[in-house]
Amino acid sequence: MRSQLVGSLLFFCSVMPLVVHGQEQTKQANEITGLLERIRSAYNAGQLSVAESLAVSLLKENAPETEPLKNAAIQYELGKIARLQSKYKLANTFFANAEDTFKAHEKFNMVAKAMAERGQINYLQSQYAQALTLFNEAKTLFTEQGDAHGVALQQLNIGVLLHAEGQFDKSLLALQDALTVFNNRNDNEKIARTLSEIGSVYLDLEKFDEAKTYLEDALRINKELGRTYEMARTHSVLGELYLKMGNHNAAEDNLLAAFSAFSAMNAPLDLESAQASLGRVKIAKGEYATGLKYLSNALEEARAQGYSSLATQIHLALSDAFLQLKDTERALKHSNWAFYQAERHGELNAQILAQEKTIQAYTVREDYQHAFEALNVKTALEAKQLDVNQSVILAKANAQIEMQRQAQAFEIQEKNRSVELANVREQNLQNMLALGSLVSLLLFIFLLWSRYNQYLQNRRLAREVKNRTNELEQKNQQLEEAFHALEQVSMRDPLTGLYNRNFLNAQLPGEIQRVQHHYASKTDDTNIPNSDLICFLIDIDYFKRINDEHGHLAGDRFLTQFTDILKEVFRQTDLLIRWGGEEFLAVCRNANREDSVELADRLLTAVKNHTFSLPDDTQIKATCSIGFCALPLCRRKPFDLDWPKTFAVMDYCLYAAKLSQRDCWVGAVEACADKPPKAYPNKLESKFGLSETMLKTSLTNFASIEWPAD
Ligand code: GH3
Ligand code: MG
Ligand code: MG
Repeated sequence: MRSQLVGSLLFFCSVMPLVVHGQEQTKQANEITGLLERIRSAYNAGQLSVAESLAVSLLKENAPETEPLKNAAIQYELGKIARLQSKYKLANTFFANAEDTFKAHEKFNMVAKAMAERGQINYLQSQYAQALTLFNEAKTLFTEQGDAHGVALQQLNIGVLLHAEGQFDKSLLALQDALTVFNNRNDNEKIARTLSEIGSVYLDLEKFDEAKTYLEDALRINKELGRTYEMARTHSVLGELYLKMGNHNAAEDNLLAAFSAFSAMNAPLDLESAQASLGRVKIAKGEYATGLKYLSNALEEARAQGYSSLATQIHLALSDAFLQLKDTERALKHSNWAFYQAERHGELNAQILAQEKTIQAYTVREDYQHAFEALNVKTALEAKQLDVNQSVILAKANAQIEMQRQAQAFEIQEKNRSVELANVREQNLQNMLALGSLVSLLLFIFLLWSRYNQYLQNRRLAREVKNRTNELEQKNQQLEEAFHALEQVSMRDPLTGLYNRNFLNAQLPGEIQRVQHHYASKTDDTNIPNSDLICFLIDIDYFKRINDEHGHLAGDRFLTQFTDILKEVFRQTDLLIRWGGEEFLAVCRNANREDSVELADRLLTAVKNHTFSLPDDTQIKATCSIGFCALPLCRRKPFDLDWPKTFAVMDYCLYAAKLSQRDCWVGAVEACADKPPKAYPNKLESKFGLSETMLKTSLTNFASIEWPAD
């Protein structure tokens, strides 16, 4: 029947390929997860058949190739159900299948869990060595995964196993280890499971008070969690406790609670165990018939299902019961069966107990020979148990060393992880630094580039400005040149409206030639009136001060007013020329050189008397200095002194007037250069090599004239 179920399930697993795509696949995955949840809660609530049918139908719909991990998860759940139903072979197949799939997909945590489940099955079949190997392997895997909880679960399993082997102290150590981890993680379910196991160890150690405390704690937590199966198990152990304590009613109550729970959830091993315990309670209560019935029923079931350990316990209980009933033959029969069963499974404690019953039975029979033989066997077994204890202690010590080693390995792993983490952090830091440096470098390059760009731009701009300035300068120069050219061709001064030097250059040679020819053609000594040219060079005194004190515009205004004076003093036919700056030239045509003195005086007086008005409404007074000469200067030899030379003489006279006093005049009305100079020539005469000079001045005398130095 069982193999048929396995066969059909495996058949469904392999031949039911489901072709699902896209959304449908996701939807189905979600449904599977939901159904798995339902299976687990049904299992936890003790509804094993509900969980089983759900799991079986889910498995049928999920072929391993479509969702292998989901399929493995279902098989894992089915394994747990089958284990509780004591279908050990089937459970083993499910767990092994699941384990293979998990291993193929590197789900090592699940591999370890499945391995531990297989260990449980070995344990339940009293195959303690294999169970211990699997628990330790699972523990190693969990350690490698850094899964402290998984490790603690294996400690719990090992604790339970040591308990079954009678290694109570060591068992308690392992259980205590597990309990610490579960407490730290607030895993109440496992806390309850561990407390229950500790309670049952104390029970075997006959420490009833401690046992009661632990078991009641476990029961309370399991009740809160609604863990039906665990609750029933705790009730079962509590029943045992009360039986040992002699509180038969409490024992019966607890065992009945366990019994009904186990039978409701179809957990046969636990059910038969509870039934056996109930039988023992009944016998203890003196209800032999019921007690024996319960024990016989449980034994029959245990044998049928192959619960050898339970069967041994029941044989012991029956032996005890028959001893009480003084039925030594049956007592011996059951003690022998118990012994052989225990011997087959290496349950030393049960062997010793069986020998005890045998001794008791032979003693009742007064068959001391056999009783003594049994005693020898028992003593040897006890010695062996001590040995075993020793070797188990050694093994346990090794296990503890191993545990320590694994803990250290775990620590090393943690340290390695920390080192790795530190390395990664350092790497990150380095990366950050490198990135930072890169950014800084880029920024620096960018700044440099912008600076350089700015520099280039500045240079371009400077070049541009220079070019423009050059251009402008060139234009200005051209303009100036053009202006000069214009000045050259124009005959008038724009400010005063008087003639300029251009006009003079154009006009004067003709005028001079005229007077020269006039004197050259003159044959007699008679003076021809109005045949001279008189040139007056006029320079305003301290004109610069006017500019400085009243501004250039005021200077200009002054110059125009000065021009008006000139126009008033001289005749219309006279030529008035702006010689330059604040210097004027007046050329009197058809003049008599003797009149020059009067003219010069008139000009000085006119200027002196005039009040000049400036733009800032200030009124100022001014004077001027005059140098003059008559042309031709040498009437005898009119061509001897050309006009530039004559003008130089005039200039020298003006300079002398300036040096002497200002507001005065100095002039030459006659001078020739064709004779050696006189004995004591003045500076003018010696400078120009003049003789026969006739000088004039407004100064007091000629000695007052201060001639300029060369
Ligand atoms: P001095 O008595 O020795 O002649 O002194 P001064 O200040 O009159 O002579 P100076 O030669 O030292 O200065 C002449 C000044 O005339 C300098 C010049 O700026 C100014 N000037 C020349 N032309 C013009 C013009 O058209 N307008 C104005 N406002 N000033 C002019
Ligand atoms: Mg001057
Ligand atoms: Mg002047």
